[in-house]
Amino acid sequence: MANKDLRTFIAEASKMGEILHIKEQVSPYFGIPAIAAKLEEVGHYPGLLFSNVQGYDIPVLTNVFASRKRLSLALGCDESNLNAVYREREDRLTKPLIIAGGPVQEITIKGDQINLFDLPIVTHNEKDAGPYITAGAMVVKDPDTGIRNVGIYRHMVHEKNKLGIHMAETSHVKYIFEKYARHGQPMPVAIAIGHHPAFYLGVLSFVPLEVDEYEVAGGLLGEPLELVKCKTVDLEVPAYAEMVLEGYIALDERRLEAPFGEYTSLYGEQCLNPVVTLTAITRRKDPIYLDCLSGHLDHQLLGGTGRLSMIYKTVRIACPTVQEVYMPPSGCCRLICYISIKKRHEGEAKNVIAAAIAADPFIKYVVVVDDDVNIYDDKDVIKAIATRLHPEQDIIIIPGAKGHPLDPTAKNGYIVTKIGIDATKPLTGYPETIKVPGVDQIDLKKILNSLT
Ligand code: MN
Repeated sequence: MANKDLRTFIAEASKMGEILHIKEQVSPYFGIPAIAAKLEEVGHYPGLLFSNVQGYDIPVLTNVFASRKRLSLALGCDESNLNAVYREREDRLTKPLIIAGGPVQEITIKGDQINLFDLPIVTHNEKDAGPYITAGAMVVKDPDTGIRNVGIYRHMVHEKNKLGIHMAETSHVKYIFEKYARHGQPMPVAIAIGHHPAFYLGVLSFVPLEVDEYEVAGGLLGEPLELVKCKTVDLEVPAYAEMVLEGYIALDERRLEAPFGEYTSLYGEQCLNPVVTLTAITRRKDPIYLDCLSGHLDHQLLGGTGRLSMIYKTVRIACPTVQEVYMPPSGCCRLICYISIKKRHEGEAKNVIAAAIAADPFIKYVVVVDDDVNIYDDKDVIKAIATRLHPEQDIIIIPGAKGHPLDPTAKNGYIVTKIGIDATKPLTGYPETIKVPGVDQIDLKKILNSLT
């Protein structure tokens, strides 16, 4: 059976010119992110495959999630349908299959042989506390229900067999870790690095605690995820991943972790965080190391895509004419949310604002617009604010709300002011938008050819 994995995606995306193959020698210590950041300055966001990584014989792929076009390619759909296809596939829970063995266990490294410094783990930003694993999908099991939970957390390399981990207060993994603490047992973990982007989009879905994210990943991949049993912990990992780090998080071990460049493109503060102690590394004979460019579009779009689905589904309960939801890169794909509706009643946009703010604590600004506004274009949304808004009645301010601790404006840990903007036009008495007759009949190719 041909399984979708990182390699099948690299092959497909390279054919489409979506991955730049870089053969010059580049260092994982700032060198790789520097090239991505330079390309970003001129508006280019290709996936970057570095085959000659200084000091290592393992290639590094990064920036793969940095465009909605590539994410659409991962789901096999048009960019204009990405959100809708994601929402539909996310609901198609597909049970994984456990198989006897897979490429991810071609090599097993245990005990003293474990050495994270043998992997080309990238150091991203000037003041980051060290190299960070940024595309590790970590699986744990709820000790009471046995249900798996999978998510991506930042992992700082502390030493050759120890990683830091940041588990957000509201995350499922934190809740599960607290259960292990009540049982007085360390939490076994396994971190899979390098798989098809659809797998990553799946494990980052916003599903209830009772849902195994591997089943969501299967829905997004369009095939059951094949798993193998880990060598040293009672967990299962994707058979077609590039590498897996097995280990446990001790209950009482804490180390200083961060600063680290976060999704806001700002440094997250140093804090005392738990530690993963490795018990094994399994990998392919010729693995590819996958990095996610933290603090850049790669990171923002990867985390933002599942979030859009969750917000859409929640807001649509409040307003069935919601057309689409988008969180633009200008708001780090988290803090600003644009929502288009087909307004039927005055006041409806205000309800949409309330629903969106309730849906996602990261959101700080919600802008609701009519469905003739292109929410994928900041300029179009700002124009709606400029021409359709009555500030005295269309701006809602909610002081003292819970935001995200990494929001630099948050006070006392997480208190922020949230703002809702109703930029929909009134149902009656608003001027008509201008229109040039015949635009749809123009043959653009013919016109452009006559210019050359
Ligand atoms: Mn979960």
